[in-house]
Amino acid sequence: MLRKPIVAVVGRPNVGKSTFFNRIAGSRISIVEDTPGVTRDRIYADCEWLTHQFAMIDTGGIEPDSTDIIMSQMRDQAQIAIDTADVIIFVCDGKHSYTTADEDIAQMLRRSKKPVLLVLNKIDQYKKPDHFYDYFDLGLGEPVMISSVNAMGLGDLLDDVVKMFPPHEALEEDDDTIRIALIGKPNVGKSSMVNKIIGENRVIVSDVAGTTRDAIDTPFEYKDQKYVLIDTAGIRRKSKVNESIERYSVLRTITAIERSDVCFILIDAAEGITDQDKKVAGYAHEAGKASIFVINKWDLLEKDNHTFNEFKMRVKEEFPFMMYAPVMFVSALTGQRINQLLEQAKYVSNNHALRISTGVLNDIINEAIALNQVPSDKGKRLKIYYATQVSVKPPTFVLFVNLAELAHFSYVRYLENQIRKNFNYEGTPIVFKVKARG
Ligand code: GDP
Ligand code: GDP
Repeated sequence: MLRKPIVAVVGRPNVGKSTFFNRIAGSRISIVEDTPGVTRDRIYADCEWLTHQFAMIDTGGIEPDSTDIIMSQMRDQAQIAIDTADVIIFVCDGKHSYTTADEDIAQMLRRSKKPVLLVLNKIDQYKKPDHFYDYFDLGLGEPVMISSVNAMGLGDLLDDVVKMFPPHEALEEDDDTIRIALIGKPNVGKSSMVNKIIGENRVIVSDVAGTTRDAIDTPFEYKDQKYVLIDTAGIRRKSKVNESIERYSVLRTITAIERSDVCFILIDAAEGITDQDKKVAGYAHEAGKASIFVINKWDLLEKDNHTFNEFKMRVKEEFPFMMYAPVMFVSALTGQRINQLLEQAKYVSNNHALRISTGVLNDIINEAIALNQVPSDKGKRLKIYYATQVSVKPPTFVLFVNLAELAHFSYVRYLENQIRKNFNYEGTPIVFKVKARG
């Protein structure tokens, strides 16, 4: 499978990063409506240019008001971009020459050896400003001129960006390996869990192609199955600015999820379920990954006969959009049930890749329609011609119907449940696309 290249946008406040980001991402910023309680920061978008798909991240954060904070925040941003991106777009204010802050960032970017595209924004007329040539001093090659407001120069810029993507071999990911992202708020026990899972008797594979990308990936083998653990806690940076720490950890979480097959959503048993947990879980769900709720620090709870079921009920209540995800209760400290995590990961990963034949699928759909009448509106009745599974990871179905607007969310949810009753899709989201066929 090919990993999507990641493009990061960096630059000083007010140079037009958000405007640029929104132009490129347009309506494709992935926000899934059926994820209640999860408002996604507009920091990540799935984009497409010609035949190329990529993920774009906007590293810009809350606008600070003092210059030294601006500097430290910009360095944080550049560092995020260097750590996570395949291509960096460095946006400058084309109305003026570069500033010392631009010079500083340019130097960081140059040293990183990552492909960088220098962009002069706010060139609203097709005319090279006098200070255009100043920008060569930054040592990042010839600047590309654009106007985000007028949407000028964006196509040429994207042409340049896709040319800088790593070759396919570098984006190729080993399909025999199950990649697990450990996600969750700080101190929930991610690093402890990585250490416990690796334990003494797993074979650590140090030299696996494609794992050099991130030092915090841990590849190993267990019972003839290859795994990679992706720990989002591994790197902690000091920053003066709280917002950028927060943004940094969100970005790390999102890029780790993007690179994973299965997410372990860690929750602190002693603290209970928090809003931050919901946000993290929402990211995994929206990305279409297989997920397992891993309730950690189970050793800290005083338990009676009901504790287990009550906690499980609470998880189902708090994450109604993720009824599919199994719930495990573990302790990274004592090692309780840690051994079962890998078996579970393998199980949900298989379900994530499950494919059902069109014939069997349509039998189920027809049966479902017979049991529960299709919706109608103003004398028009929904007709479902047929359904087919178009892809896996996550399992994605297309429903061909007469009128898409009649295929209400609740009816599609009903069909999903019928499919889930007949097939083992435990642990994976299912995606439905409704297409009208006149
Ligand atoms: P950010 O802080 O880098 O994300 O910058 P914003 O996207 O918020 O833009 C800052 C200001 O610059 C806003 O008032 C934008 O309308 C303006 N701006 C952004 N792009 C352009 C452009 O291409 N031309 C002009 N003239 N103004 C722009
Ligand atoms: P991270 O920030 O998510 O990587 O969390 P850490 O792995 O650094 O753990 C944070 C703290 O929680 C450390 O003091 C751990 O020893 C502790 N911790 C982690 N897992 C458990 C657990 O299962 N039980 C208990 N009691 N403490 C744990």
